[in-house]
Amino acid sequence: MAATSLSAAGVRWDLADLSSGADAARQEWEELLARGRRFAETRRGTVGTEGPEALRDLLAELDGIYEDASRNHFYATAREHTQATDAETNDLATLARDRAADLENLLLFVELEWLALDDAAADELLAAPALAPYAHKLLVAREEKPYVLGEQEEQALNARKPALSAWESLHGRQLATLTVDFDAGSGAEPHTIDRLLSYIHDPDRPLRLRAIDALYDGLATRADVQAACYDALVGDRLSVDRLRGVPEPMLPTNMRNELDGEVVESMMSSIEEHYELGRRWFVRKAAVLGLDKLQLADQYAPVGQDRSLAWPEAVEIVDGTFADFEPRLAEIYRACLERSHVDAEPRAGKVGGAYCNSVSRHVLPYVLMNFTDRVRDVVTLAHEFGHVTHGALALERQAYRAYRVGLAVAEIPSTFAQLLAVERLIDAEEDPSTRAMLLADRAENAMASIFRQTVLARFEQQAYALRGEGKALTTDRLSEIWIAENRRYYGDSLDLPEGYRLGWSYIPHFIHVRFYTYAYAFAHLVAFSLLARYREDPAAFTPAYLEFLAAGGSRSPQDLLSPLGVDLREPATWAGAFGEFERCVAEAEAGVDGLPT
Ligand SMILES: [Zn+2]
Repeated sequence: MAATSLSAAGVRWDLADLSSGADAARQEWEELLARGRRFAETRRGTVGTEGPEALRDLLAELDGIYEDASRNHFYATAREHTQATDAETNDLATLARDRAADLENLLLFVELEWLALDDAAADELLAAPALAPYAHKLLVAREEKPYVLGEQEEQALNARKPALSAWESLHGRQLATLTVDFDAGSGAEPHTIDRLLSYIHDPDRPLRLRAIDALYDGLATRADVQAACYDALVGDRLSVDRLRGVPEPMLPTNMRNELDGEVVESMMSSIEEHYELGRRWFVRKAAVLGLDKLQLADQYAPVGQDRSLAWPEAVEIVDGTFADFEPRLAEIYRACLERSHVDAEPRAGKVGGAYCNSVSRHVLPYVLMNFTDRVRDVVTLAHEFGHVTHGALALERQAYRAYRVGLAVAEIPSTFAQLLAVERLIDAEEDPSTRAMLLADRAENAMASIFRQTVLARFEQQAYALRGEGKALTTDRLSEIWIAENRRYYGDSLDLPEGYRLGWSYIPHFIHVRFYTYAYAFAHLVAFSLLARYREDPAAFTPAYLEFLAAGGSRSPQDLLSPLGVDLREPATWAGAFGEFERCVAEAEAGVDGLPT
């Protein structure tokens, strides 16, 4: 549990923009379902068969239903995430999940009818000016057509979803219920995984090493079940892929991200060519910490001096970052704060972590985070408001269906905003020791999202390949490929403890969304490229960047990014990004020069 923050006390959501209360929310679900039923009665059998204007009106009506459902659903989720112990809240959240699923089933026919149209009819509609706001999303949907089965087969596959989520839940429950008795200095106490992991940032080295060992000892008691969950899910995904004729296990994720397999592979191999940069830092860091070599538990050990930072100062720094970059973004940021769309106070009954929800075209986005008065919390605040500005501008300009982007592009504005805010923090920092901490933190963040996520994606590729050859994914087999892929990154710059062979067993992304991992690497590299472009020519960059935000998901990543000078088809694209990455590591090295060891 995070330390209680005094400075963000009382910084809580006002949910009035979402709903006036639980009764109203329940009532609205009934109205939404009635609207959905009316829509289905009048529109079924007409998707794409009555000309472009009719299809545009149909999609606009559908968007309206989805938008109101999104707002009403988020009202329940927002309460659940901040008042977990309230009985009325839990009932409402259950109701919202059920009603949202019912609504989804009622409206599903639109996608199926759109896919069922023959190509000539679809192409004619896609070319019609009336459908311009929807054209890109409609086109992308049709790209899945070769892999979509008949309606009854799809329904049968859907019917297996509860059984599949049972594997996911089992995996999650195994981790959530795992506690290890651990003595952090004040007597042995049960520790959760998150609490054990939090010690990797502790300056006390023996504590770090013991905590990591305790973590892997704990995971060893669950590893076989975790492996069985993963084996079942990967096996299932591969057999459904075979039914659908999906040729390659990364394809579904690449399609969601609208990225070509070659672009992803060329990015990952460029990243691997730069692993040396990480190893160089680990050797330097060992010297700073006065060690011959780093152990895994030292990877994120603090260098320099952390400092505390109160909520008003954090608000000010992010405000200044946006205002200097582009006043329009600062306007959105201030409006969200003024309308109490930010919940920053950590407290009992509130979920951990941070996220942004871009609710609808009529409501400003909401942000949840847990502000603990650390300087790093500024990074989170800026990151989430990168998402907010993207969502708000895209919703202003695009149809609801067209504002949303894939995972890979979604993380670009958040990473870019975070890089700008960190640069501002570093420039303003007068204490050389805190400056060193900030510089090291920035470099290690980049390594965690660019290098480590690539290691994770390579691990997944190996696992799917083994399972595809008919080999079961056992604890031993997973541990073997896990260590091999990690070795390719760390080399001998850092010692991996024996227990680390189970490092794969607690990573939720493997379970929930295959190959989610590379999206972080992609976004961080693109954000680095954008930062380099911005520095070269801020006057030309800023309006083009605003255009990128406002375009939302109305174009492909290639077409969204090329006006910003990032051409994804060009392998040289990544060179600019690595230039920036190298600068970042070099500055971290310069920062620790002269620190007392
Ligand atoms: Zn994010």
